[in-house]
Amino acid sequence: MNNDSRNNEKKGGSFNPFKKKETGGEGGSSKGPSFSFYWIYVIAAVVLIGYQVMRGVSPDARNITELEFKQKMLSQNDVAKLEPVKNKDIVRVYITRDSLDKKVYKDMLGDKLVYAKSSKGPHFQFGYSKIDDYQENLNKYFTDHPEVREVPVEPITDPEFFGPLVNFLFPILMFGLLMVLMMRKMGGGAGGGGGGGIFSIGKSKAQLFDKGTKVNITFKDVAGLDEAKQEVMEIVDFLKNPKKYTALGGKIPKGALLVGPPGTGKTLLAKAMAGEAQVPFFSMSGSDFVEMFVGVGASRVRDLFKQAREKAPCIIFIDEIDAIGRARGKNVMMSNDERENTLNQLLVEMDGFGGDSGIIILAATNRPDVLDSALLRPGRFDRQISIDKPDVKGREAIFLVHLKPIKRSETLDIHKLAEQTPGFAGADIANVCNEAALIAARKGKDQVEMDDFQDAIDRVIGGLEKKNKIILPEEKKIIAYHEAGHAVCGWYLEHAYPLLKVTIVPRGVAALGYAQYTPKEQYLYNTEQLTDQMCMTLGGRASEEIFFNKISTGAQNDLQQVTKLSYAMVTVYGMNDRVGNISFYDPQQDQYFTKPYSEETGKIIDEEVRKLVDQAYQRTIELLTEKKAEVEKIALALLDREVLHQQDVEDLIGKRPFSEKKILADDEPSQDSNPSAQTE
Ligand code: ADP
Ligand code: ZN
Repeated sequence: MNNDSRNNEKKGGSFNPFKKKETGGEGGSSKGPSFSFYWIYVIAAVVLIGYQVMRGVSPDARNITELEFKQKMLSQNDVAKLEPVKNKDIVRVYITRDSLDKKVYKDMLGDKLVYAKSSKGPHFQFGYSKIDDYQENLNKYFTDHPEVREVPVEPITDPEFFGPLVNFLFPILMFGLLMVLMMRKMGGGAGGGGGGGIFSIGKSKAQLFDKGTKVNITFKDVAGLDEAKQEVMEIVDFLKNPKKYTALGGKIPKGALLVGPPGTGKTLLAKAMAGEAQVPFFSMSGSDFVEMFVGVGASRVRDLFKQAREKAPCIIFIDEIDAIGRARGKNVMMSNDERENTLNQLLVEMDGFGGDSGIIILAATNRPDVLDSALLRPGRFDRQISIDKPDVKGREAIFLVHLKPIKRSETLDIHKLAEQTPGFAGADIANVCNEAALIAARKGKDQVEMDDFQDAIDRVIGGLEKKNKIILPEEKKIIAYHEAGHAVCGWYLEHAYPLLKVTIVPRGVAALGYAQYTPKEQYLYNTEQLTDQMCMTLGGRASEEIFFNKISTGAQNDLQQVTKLSYAMVTVYGMNDRVGNISFYDPQQDQYFTKPYSEETGKIIDEEVRKLVDQAYQRTIELLTEKKAEVEKIALALLDREVLHQQDVEDLIGKRPFSEKKILADDEPSQDSNPSAQTE
């Protein structure tokens, strides 16, 4: 019931988009009036500024006295014309062109003389209180001085009828203009949508959302994501042919949430849906609302839906919806009223149109868990479509899409590229392809080859190669043994990932070297796998201790990973006997987090985490002590060659004793590869 009444109220204002235009908008100002309102400001400002400028630039008539005028000019027959200004009680004096050469004018005008000569005048002016009687005054003078030539007198009225007003109004108008500009810049202005014109300075609304642009991206441009495509097919079909569905009384979802990490193609998919259905695409980003004035966010949302309704059927895409859609009232420190207003407006809008309005709202987020539950209620974003990082097959398909415009060598092994880029999102792959083309071009090649791609992958992984970074020989030795430790650990631990390459070429800012592995595409990990992974990560520090009997700060990143993993095993995955099958996972850890466990349990957790790490470290030390010769071999080779690939390692220390079969032989859909695909 409650819902019903809200609908009606809403519809009263906005249900019929055609009628609304004539009756003038509801709450906010509507398009027409506000637009011309701004223009009045513009025109007034331009006129006033122009006037001020003109006045400043026009040759200043020098002020003199009437006596001076008569003695120095009139009596000398130098005057060409007089111009009494009726509304100003002044008389302007025009001097003849030739007379200006006289010394007297040079003295009077100084360096302004040149300027005076080039202008018609007036050159001087003097005040006279009874201006209407000036002609009489002159006549008398001429009668008294018959030797003086009479001059024409042309009384005028200065067109500065708003002169006094100007000084009064100008600052006010300027201030108003400034305010308008500022509001525009802040993204403000409740109504409007004028968009273009001179007000598009700064962050205008036009940039905040795409105004229903047509897109020519289709599903062909979206590689992989087959399941997601399948799911959105129905929506596309609905947009193409809404009657077919509504005729049968079917209810089409209003919104779908695209959930997945950045760069995985959420925006791309949403656009492709619009492209497939041939409908306009509206988009805006939730993060744009963060630093806004009160009330602006909500009015933005209102505006967006208003425009969308006029162009329905269409798709509205809201990127980073978590920026506005975070659960309300959770964050005590920074309660953000503005965000809540925006969110409320969004909810109202979503409830305000029926399933037959032809508007589909898609939203993207990486954190569906932090969203306000009101958003996920039926009739809103009740559908979630998960978009994961691509697996090998998906990556291969994405490579194919982005290789299309690239002139590439016949010998390019796309499958191998896909294998070497675990954990890459679609955007990263697009980046690799572009980098590879640039690298090849720099080398002057006429096609892009495998090693260019190899370089591009390295570059994308670790930032630009820093070959020229100076590392002391002593440091280099430590780094070599550190990385060799990782590599050997991985080689002889059954559940570790197969090594891809190990290098001591520094990359990026932090990594001095790294070992890179091919993670298996898997969804579930068991305890053995995780402990092996821990040992492999600790291999660097263990090797340093064994060979140098001292440790360095180089393992900081490794230790961080190990600590995180260890805590996860104990507190999240329930892999510890003493803590038991309990998971303290809190999706909102970055918010206020009160430990759901007692002091005692906390102590046990700390002890167990420490024990786990200590055990893993002990095991690593034992393993590497046993394989000391192998570590030595790899380290020396690294010092020599800097980079060792899988085959090189095999040549040095023999084949890996374990066959590389999948340990969990189930058909789980492969997913996000392990985050620690490399150790530093
Ligand atoms: P998201 O919105 O998930 O952060 P985008 O859709 O903006 O990611 O993707 C960024 C870019 O990455 C796209 O423009 C496209 O070039 C590339 N990309 C991502 N996923 C894919 C994919 N599945 N197929 C082809 N290209 C992709
Ligand atoms: Zn390391």
